[in-house]
Amino acid sequence: MKKNMISTAIALTLGAVSLSGCQQTTPMNDVAPLQTVISSEQQAQTFSAQFIESLWELSPTWALYSGYHKFDSKLVVPDNFSRQQSLDFVKTQRAQLSMVDQSKLSASTRIDMALITNTLDSIEWDIKTFKSWQWQPSQYNVAGGFAQIINGKYAPLDERLNSVLERLTLVAQYYQAARANIANPTLEHTKLAVMQNKGALGVFSDELIEKAKQSGLSSQDKALFESRVLEARQAVMSHIDWLDNLSQDLTKNGARSFRIGSDLYEQKFTLDIQSDLSAKALYNKALNDKKIVLSDMAKISDKLWTKYFPNKAKPSTPQQMISQMIEKLSVKHVKRENFVDEIRNQIPALEAFVNDKNLITLDKDKPLVVRETPAYMRGFAGASISAPGPYDKKANTYYNVTPLDNMSDEQAESYLREYNHWVLQVLNIHEAVPGHYTQLVYSNKSPSLVKSLFGNGAMVEGWAVYSERMMLEEGYGDFEPELWLMYYKWNLRVITNTILDYEIHNKNISRAQGLALMMDGAFQQRAEAEGKWHRATISQVQLTSYYSGYRDIYDLRDEYKAKKGADYNVKTFHDQFLSYGSAPVKFVRQLMMTK
Ligand code: ZN
Ligand code: ZN
Repeated sequence: MKKNMISTAIALTLGAVSLSGCQQTTPMNDVAPLQTVISSEQQAQTFSAQFIESLWELSPTWALYSGYHKFDSKLVVPDNFSRQQSLDFVKTQRAQLSMVDQSKLSASTRIDMALITNTLDSIEWDIKTFKSWQWQPSQYNVAGGFAQIINGKYAPLDERLNSVLERLTLVAQYYQAARANIANPTLEHTKLAVMQNKGALGVFSDELIEKAKQSGLSSQDKALFESRVLEARQAVMSHIDWLDNLSQDLTKNGARSFRIGSDLYEQKFTLDIQSDLSAKALYNKALNDKKIVLSDMAKISDKLWTKYFPNKAKPSTPQQMISQMIEKLSVKHVKRENFVDEIRNQIPALEAFVNDKNLITLDKDKPLVVRETPAYMRGFAGASISAPGPYDKKANTYYNVTPLDNMSDEQAESYLREYNHWVLQVLNIHEAVPGHYTQLVYSNKSPSLVKSLFGNGAMVEGWAVYSERMMLEEGYGDFEPELWLMYYKWNLRVITNTILDYEIHNKNISRAQGLALMMDGAFQQRAEAEGKWHRATISQVQLTSYYSGYRDIYDLRDEYKAKKGADYNVKTFHDQFLSYGSAPVKFVRQLMMTK
């Protein structure tokens, strides 16, 4: 009996259909006493589980990128109907959430509810206010979802091909809806859409058709598969033609600006970053940090000058002095053929340092595997972490490092100077230990699926950036001035990203001003600066996430230190901070500062 009462209470609370077969006539007055039967905590957990399942059904592509494959065969056509469905979803979920008594929840579950609220707010804001579905043609591309299914290892090939077969039916309608949506787009997002949809053609390849032919599909399905792939290919090609025409028209007659302006910028910052600070307040902090970093860089360069330039007079400006010093130091780097091995060798040294200095508790059961980046992932040279998603916790975490095989001598030299002897160490701290890899191990241990799925990007990137400085402050590298100078250059890039993004969208700076900010102001090479400028024209706010998270964590640590006084312990701070999963720093602050 008690069991039935519980399930009825949940059913009423969540508006779901009760399967218990009785108690359907319970008057609403009885709901309140019934609710006390289940705890608010259980109610919140049930709500979360239902929220996630409903969201995945609404957004199958989001689901499959998160590692959830139940709805793979469904492609959502991005039309008015689907947008209305999303808005209805937001309304329903908010109503259900409002029935959870938040005051009775554990701190961790309260964060989950806040993350869900923010997810709902973001969905609604994008559809109703930001309207990126109108002015960002680059939103429309079916390839990613298909590639995930085709390259996935989560199910046997035949099963995945069946999902692909069904998912293919609406590709033409998908692009039709996209064209109906697009209104007054930017030239930048239109060009990006052309480029990325050309890439999409690679997914609907003869190779894919061949794969189906070799599979266990019935001969009827094989024929259907081939015709649908060919139709999809045709739909993408027609769409590219349409975009090309649009692009020419925009070039000739002018287009919407990629700058979103202060109102939208602040709103997006609030939703995406979830900091206590406003975008403007963060920008002011960045300007201040830039001054401090530059002044330290000048002091270090001044001190090192005679060691590296015994017979050369110091340049007249600090800017030139720093710049020449960085150039001189960059010559020290590993040989190109040793690049991957060098990274592999550094990881145990970083772990040993973290353990010796008692900085963070590292999990010995989750080894990091350093590997050469698999071919299908090699878009550009670099290093990245592939972590198992929340639905696949037992999988390995990989540190992908791309060997420099495909570079000319000149390219390799330039790359190795960028990732020189010192910067390579900072990179490994950031990507691996105790940066992304260490944080992700903690994040996947956090029992909340909500935090793993809707985690805060600023906290994740901020932690990696924070860990660089923390390691150096704890004495990694023995306070070697060269390492600090190179670290500062790296840190200055993060600070400059924030300044650049803010000034582009709020202060209308020109391309020349943006490039000068990076090249003269932060010692970046032209190619890097041009790439960053381009990125800032097709994204908004994202570039501030690294600095924002870093600043918030660092400031929180200062507050925590002051509060704990003589009891302050850095390991306790780190272990507790990481234990909340990838939650926004402002929520972690509430939890750590009120206890
Ligand atoms: Zn060299
Ligand atoms: Zn990172």
